[in-house]
Amino acid sequence: MTSRVAVLGAGLAGLAAAAELVRLGHDVTVFEARDRVGGRVWSESITAAGGYHVIERGAEFVLNGYSTFRDYCAAHDLELVDTGMSYYIRVPADRPGVTTEDMATLGRRAADAAAAGSGARSVADVLDEIAVTGPAREALEARIEMSTSVRTDQVTAEETLEHVASFEPGPSWRVGGGNQGLPNALGAALGSRVRLGETVQTVLQTADKVLVTTTSGSETFDYVVVALPFGVLAHPTDVSIDLPEWKTAAMSRVVQGNAAKLHLALESTPDTSAVMSVSDRFWTWTANAAPGDVSPVVNCFGGELDHLRALGIDQGGADWEEKVRALRADLDLASAPAVLTAWPFDPLARGAYTAHAPGFTLADAEALAAPHGRLYFAGEYIDLEYTGLMEGALRSGDSAARAIDHRTTGKAAS
Ligand code: FAD
Repeated sequence: MTSRVAVLGAGLAGLAAAAELVRLGHDVTVFEARDRVGGRVWSESITAAGGYHVIERGAEFVLNGYSTFRDYCAAHDLELVDTGMSYYIRVPADRPGVTTEDMATLGRRAADAAAAGSGARSVADVLDEIAVTGPAREALEARIEMSTSVRTDQVTAEETLEHVASFEPGPSWRVGGGNQGLPNALGAALGSRVRLGETVQTVLQTADKVLVTTTSGSETFDYVVVALPFGVLAHPTDVSIDLPEWKTAAMSRVVQGNAAKLHLALESTPDTSAVMSVSDRFWTWTANAAPGDVSPVVNCFGGELDHLRALGIDQGGADWEEKVRALRADLDLASAPAVLTAWPFDPLARGAYTAHAPGFTLADAEALAAPHGRLYFAGEYIDLEYTGLMEGALRSGDSAARAIDHRTTGKAAS
């Protein structure tokens, strides 16, 4: 039976949910507050070395195991480009005695210790337990805090050290021409089903329908996929959605990561590289835009709110830019001002991506993913294996769509 389904949010999670629902024969409307699709995937271009070059203001790296992402790219004829550098390996420039191998060795020790003990410990607890101190610990902590975008005492040890803080070299990809190509292709295929510039204000369940009110009016639907960012859903005044206590309890064990990016033009083509500042919690990289073609742009990512404030992101990017110029004196930096993207201050994101607090359990993961009445949930914070990542967002959208289809048709979700 065809159902009328509203999808709230046109990030990768909402777009995947909508695409899958349409494929399964449902009548779908996507409400998106921005004037573009993609949410935290946002590619633009800047002028550098006399040409235009794509920058990723949000999600950048396509990593190992991104099978759903790859499938969607293949379905829309999008090619992945090997960046020629490894997301996983970053030289700690301000700790000259520490090598990337030292960090890998220590990371493995910490991961082993985390796997051996209780699940309620934070990364900081495990680092204390294995009694690591000094510059190697500082570099390791910085690396982990930059990946999770929260402090090491705020995230669960086992999962974080196993998944997020991998220090083995491995290839990293981007979508050729910009990651935005994927949401754009999904949005184009959905056509007029996507309504841009419509902010969802309230979602109200009645006995057999859901009433969705946006800045343009109210409509009723059979089901709703809530694919809003965790930060928006958790924020008391953004959207009014009645959530049950079992879901808000699980949400209280999710931590919101905060990150910002800065892009600076170069005068000439660099080699690929990945260099981090341990003290200031940011890393910088130069990468291929196409095979063998390194982009004349230095990309910078800073993580964790206190460190972002110390970098002055609430005052603009000038202080951070100065630090990048000092850290990357090896690069031929142009004088053009840097482009800052501060996700913590974006009211339609309220942060970068999520991680799990110490004590987060499988039951919490199930509660995050579970429907509440006619409301289904999708977003990077839902998928347990790829939490925080584009792959997790897509998978969660697919799952929500199949669960609705299963409920309406009685077919097993596949
Ligand atoms: P979103 O993309 O945030 O989509 C939610 C949508 O809801 C948005 O379009 C938003 O505008 C809309 N919305 C919000 N409020 C309302 C409302 N009231 N009404 C209607 N619409 C609303 N992932 C990786 O895999 N690799 C990376 O290298 C990587 N790097 C990252 C770097 C940064 C700086 C950031 C910020 C993220 C990064 N990520 C990375 C994470 C990745 O961007 C996310 O996991 C993914 O894009 C989230 O998709 P989503 O659909 O869950 O949420």
